[in-house]
Amino acid sequence: MAVPKKKTSKSRRNMRRSHHHLATPGYIECSNCGALARPHHVCTACGYYNKRQVIAFKEVVEEDLDQAV
Ligand SMILES: [Zn+2]
Repeated sequence: MAVPKKKTSKSRRNMRRSHHHLATPGYIECSNCGALARPHHVCTACGYYNKRQVIAFKEVVEEDLDQAV
């Protein structure tokens, strides 16, 4: 097994770890409501994707039921 010849200094170790950070996820504005949403994901605020409603939230369904009755 290969063994390091010298102890890695705190400086070298910290320089190596300077790249160990999480990348910031990208966000776009929803075309319908303007809320921040992940690209290529359904908007969690209004349920729109590709400029059309793909998820009907519970509040919306209940409002439709009240209007029908
Ligand atoms: Zn939206």
